[in-house]
Amino acid sequence: MGDSPIRVVGVIGAGTMGAGIAQVCSQIGWEVRLHDALPGGVEAGILRIEEFWSMGIRKGKTDANMVEKWRMNIIPSSLEDAAMRSDLVIEAVPERMDLKSDIFRSLDHLAKEDTILATNTSSLSVKEISKSTQKPKRVVGMHFFNPVPLMPLVEIIRHEEISERTVDIAKYAADKMGKSSIVVNDVPGFATSRLGVVLGNEAIRMLAEGVASASDIDTAMKLGYRHPMGPLELSDLVGLDVRRDILNGLAESFEDDSYRPHPLLNQLVNAGDLGKKTGRGIYEWDRGEKRDRDDLGM
Ligand code: NAD
Repeated sequence: MGDSPIRVVGVIGAGTMGAGIAQVCSQIGWEVRLHDALPGGVEAGILRIEEFWSMGIRKGKTDANMVEKWRMNIIPSSLEDAAMRSDLVIEAVPERMDLKSDIFRSLDHLAKEDTILATNTSSLSVKEISKSTQKPKRVVGMHFFNPVPLMPLVEIIRHEEISERTVDIAKYAADKMGKSSIVVNDVPGFATSRLGVVLGNEAIRMLAEGVASASDIDTAMKLGYRHPMGPLELSDLVGLDVRRDILNGLAESFEDDSYRPHPLLNQLVNAGDLGKKTGRGIYEWDRGEKRDRDDLGM
């Protein structure tokens, strides 16, 4: 691709994923218009980004002068501002079709004619999201992984009405962000989430049945199957609410209740134990360190 088609990126939702996406975009030198609906949401996202950078400086991996420049690239914005000024908007709000459809309806109305609208959905139909716009050809899935600054993959989701320009710009953006991309058709759970959540749900079932402790189930997959991280630790890192929503989405799309979240997963989410982000999920989390809970597993 010739001249950069991207100078300004809008990021909608400054949570786990939105903050990570904003961080990586700011490090390329793109202006980032960061929006969150929750009062203080953008500030909390920026704080997490700054903590990541500070850790890099402490470890001697990150240059403090660069951090100052990167920080200035991130501008807290209204939804209108983020939509109107951006060449690419990446939505990262919770995994709910009604929420995402509302946001895409507004983005479509507010954004420039040729702005690309991307969703970071883990499992929802990108085609259905695109239907809330007048120009579905410019809507694409860009599925990032957590933590965004470290994970090298972006799944690009195409649907029947997408234009090749949209796919090309999504690939270009992923490449500039230092990520490898794969292009996947718009089927529920894409290539990654479907396998990932099924493994996590089965591990939770095993925990509920008392097969082993959480850390031993995770070690089984790490040492026995060379997974870099166990399925339970990964579930806590992703967020148990996010995983529950994906499972329910798969069960509904495939009309197959075997995808339904295990009751223990529902119970943890209902108790507000959402994983690392709340300090408690399948594990207890303390300053990034995890330990088994006394009340779960063996
Ligand atoms: P999160 O709960 O950490 O963050 C969501 C953010 O969106 C919150 O800050 C919330 O205040 C904000 N928000 C809610 N409604 C909004 C609205 N109407 N407008 C603007 N902001 C709004 O969630 P997350 O883990 O970052 O997940 C976001 C999306 O990314 C989901 O679609 C999820 O499936 C997907 N995803 C998550 C992961 C993961 O590991 N967490 C990985 C890949 C993809």
